[in-house]
Amino acid sequence: MAYVILGTCEKDDVCATACPDEAISHGTVTVDGVEYDQYYIDATKCNECGTCESMCPSSSILIDLDLTDKEKIYQKVSAAFFAQ
Ligand code: SF4
Repeated sequence: MAYVILGTCEKDDVCATACPDEAISHGTVTVDGVEYDQYYIDATKCNECGTCESMCPSSSILIDLDLTDKEKIYQKVSAAFFAQ
């Protein structure tokens, strides 16, 4: 499991600063012809502590198990960002 940042991310860097495992990065990536510009969580580094979720000012961070079908695209977007 890992936390995932949704497209409602307002690019406040509070999550990246607070993450104890330096799992959160900002940047752009294009997936299926759509460009995303937000923060992302590296699922291979996230220890599921929940710190980022509790601090996010736009409530844009969820544990992957709670993602709706529509929100699951952000797992794909995050994986694509860290694969580039
Ligand atoms: S849940 Fe914890 S380890 Fe995972 S990205 Fe958020 S702050 Fe970092």
